[in-house]
Amino acid sequence: MPGRLLSRVALITGAGSGIGLECSLLFAQEGAHVALVDVNEQAVQKTHKLIGERYPNVKSIPIKADVSKEESVKDMVEQTVTTFGRLDIMFNNAGIMHPEDDNALNTEERIWDLTMNINVKGVWWGCKYAILAMRKNPTDEGKGLHTGGSIINTASFVALMGAATPQLAYTASKGAVLAMTRELAMVHAREGIRVNAICPGPLKTPLLMDFLNTDEKKQRRLVHLPMGRFGEAIEVARGALFLASDDSSYVTGTDFLVDGGLSSCY
Ligand code: NAD
Repeated sequence: MPGRLLSRVALITGAGSGIGLECSLLFAQEGAHVALVDVNEQAVQKTHKLIGERYPNVKSIPIKADVSKEESVKDMVEQTVTTFGRLDIMFNNAGIMHPEDDNALNTEERIWDLTMNINVKGVWWGCKYAILAMRKNPTDEGKGLHTGGSIINTASFVALMGAATPQLAYTASKGAVLAMTRELAMVHAREGIRVNAICPGPLKTPLLMDFLNTDEKKQRRLVHLPMGRFGEAIEVARGALFLASDDSSYVTGTDFLVDGGLSSCY
């Protein structure tokens, strides 16, 4: 049923790869105009080009930005609103898993700080400037109501349970994303702004495959997966589409797991 996001305006971070890339294509397919954000300029230009080729009826803009910098986040939201006139959907998806991140004894402060700056502060800034923009969205039929919006933050299954291959800073950062999401959902519910976390299980994207860089590490993770396979980015993008669209109009503050059953069996 294409058209679930017809004429909506979405900003997607991490749009150059993995979940962000698949989600950008899916949202555009469903009729949304999309602001594509990534720190990797070449990658985000590629996503922009793909959307132009596949979905000529929607508009997209590529934006190079680092979500860990408040000024960059403010600027990317401003660019989106200036170009499209509003912001309906904010997908705070960009994140890192540092290849040297490990257990409490080995993880270093520089890894902890880098991870927290991108994964946690980046989501905070993204929520802050999205809320400010969504409050200015045109009102609903002259009733003085805000039309609000939908914010989706990418957490992880590790926000809810421990990981078999240690990655302490990453796990702590995703726990923070989920906690922040729940509080923002409570605080902004009456403004019509829904805030949800999507919690993917292990996926076949560069982020995880670079981390599980040996067969032994991959097997240690695979053994816990009921379906016996890593997930695909598109499978998470479909979950994000549900949270972005009016199909989820009574859903806020949730930890929406797309984990192939991992959390039921761990
Ligand atoms: P990916 O590495 O394929 O894509 C991440 C994208 O984010 C990249 O294009 C990268 O350039 C961009 N990015 C990194 N730092 C950035 C910054 N500071 N500013 C702007 N862009 C930045 O990874 P993915 O698997 O698609 O991960 C997307 C999200 O999903 C992340 O938040 C990740 O933690 C989360 N996640 C992934 C998995 C998994 O198994 N892959 C599982 C659970 C959660």
